[in-house]
Amino acid sequence: MKIIEFILNLFTKKETIIEKEFIMENQITKNFTLAELTYSDTAKSKGLDNTPSEIEYKNMKNLCENLLQPLREKIGKPIKVNSCYRGKQLNEAVGGSKTSQHCKGEAADIEIIGMSNYDLAIYIKDNFDFDQLILEYADNLKNDKNSGWVHVSYVSSSVNRKQCLTINKKGTQLGLIK
Ligand SMILES: [Zn+2]
Repeated sequence: MKIIEFILNLFTKKETIIEKEFIMENQITKNFTLAELTYSDTAKSKGLDNTPSEIEYKNMKNLCENLLQPLREKIGKPIKVNSCYRGKQLNEAVGGSKTSQHCKGEAADIEIIGMSNYDLAIYIKDNFDFDQLILEYADNLKNDKNSGWVHVSYVSSSVNRKQCLTINKKGTQLGLIK
């Protein structure tokens, strides 16, 4: 009798709901964790809660599954995530744009130790699908070989635009400029 009940339960609505229950796993993909992608010195020092909502978490998962993890595997080097998810309070505290894709969990600021950020941005452009790719403040090469960072975003709710920009002291320019 127990076995029959168990089998019947597998097909009931109750079981379906349990299966679909949202679980925020720390290990998002093989090399990326929720702890790393939500970490912020500012949030820590100001005592801000930087926990994403279910939708934001799912966006981060999409970013990891479709971009960060495949990039990690193709390039064969660890990716340093400087900033990924920023809750509203943290985004305000760091002076981020109100429409920042970081707030939706769709963007990450990354670097690879020993690789110039210009080369990293070009590598992503040539090999992956993305929404926005921004080479940020990577123009201080004289003083800092690893100057700047690469901002990259991925969306699953609409078409990825594949937009490339360069932002530095000169302002915002279209394309990836050394
Ligand atoms: Zn960014």
